[in-house]
Amino acid sequence: MLNGALIGCGFFAQNQLRAWAEAGDAGIVALCDRDAARLAATAARFGIARTYDDAAEMLARERPDFVDIATTVASHVPLVTLAARAGVPVICQKPFTETLAEAAELVETCRRAGVKLMVHENFRWQAPIRAVRRVLDEGEIGQPFWARIAFRSAYDVYAGQPYLAEGSRFIIQDLGIHLLDVARFLFGEVTTLAARTQRVNPRIAGEDVATMMLGHAAGVTTVVDCSYASAQERELFPQSLIEIDGARGTLRLGADYELVVHADGATRRETVAPDEARWGPAPWHGIQHSVFDIQEHFIACLRGGREPETSGADNLRTLALVEAAYLSAQRGGAPVDPAAL
Ligand code: NAD
Repeated sequence: MLNGALIGCGFFAQNQLRAWAEAGDAGIVALCDRDAARLAATAARFGIARTYDDAAEMLARERPDFVDIATTVASHVPLVTLAARAGVPVICQKPFTETLAEAAELVETCRRAGVKLMVHENFRWQAPIRAVRRVLDEGEIGQPFWARIAFRSAYDVYAGQPYLAEGSRFIIQDLGIHLLDVARFLFGEVTTLAARTQRVNPRIAGEDVATMMLGHAAGVTTVVDCSYASAQERELFPQSLIEIDGARGTLRLGADYELVVHADGATRRETVAPDEARWGPAPWHGIQHSVFDIQEHFIACLRGGREPETSGADNLRTLALVEAAYLSAQRGGAPVDPAAL
């Protein structure tokens, strides 16, 4: 059994703790939060007796096998550095850091300390996204040449995460980051990115709409578009919709996790929804399932000495896409080479 400690008992940590409680050979034995009420409520909810208001003290006393950092981005640099110094492997929430330079430094700090570092980049672990990747890997639609990864919603994310309304950066850093990571997961590295951003909701500080065009080294063109200002007849939050055109046919991941593959003149349909009875309630089942799977992957990597799929080093490339998007938007949509950042 691997004993973990978790820092940050907020909105999303509840999903992480639920997944840790269901894990086979790992669990959380100590919790830390500066907010006493949140700490107490979370400790009671998950039956975790050992609680701290100071992360350094928790790591020193508990000497955990790993630490799960579930705080918001501003605290990631000090907390990951603390874990590296204590020699404790880290899984840290996205966005990993606010700047690419800080992220590169943290990756180097952990490398020098010999500490495994993974970023909790869970969208690529969603069952429907894995199903899309399998279709591509099996060559069913031939060589892909064009794709769209879309997330358009009017769900009130500000109710559960009020800080999202306050930052000068919003949808690319918070949600687009997941979709950009999925684009890398499906089609590989990106050599050019052009973006436009908009703010539709006047009550928030950052952008709530972003449209990005990515050129991948492998030749695919991907449109990544996201919005938290799009009220539709049916609210599909938190579903990502994917369209891919390939040399032999097309793939569509539509509403309600319906996957339609049309290749060589024949069409097949499949529902690739996560099991609602196991991971529900809807609409959170897709998220909950991906959190469980990414945490299982982290533990398997710790046990097997493997590099996690979304290691800190890997995540630098996703963060470079985020930076490239903001830079391109600032330059009126001019293309940016993420590798040059
Ligand atoms: P939140 O504000 O609800 O919770 C963060 C908690 O961390 C707070 O309770 C705060 O008191 C605590 N905290 C902050 N700094 C601390 C420190 N130094 N020591 C101890 N406690 C500290 O935030 P949230 O909405 O749960 O988001 C947390 C992170 O999870 C963010 O980075 C967010 O982007 C990410 N997130 C990811 C997903 C996903 O699908 N992967 C979804 C939602 C949020």
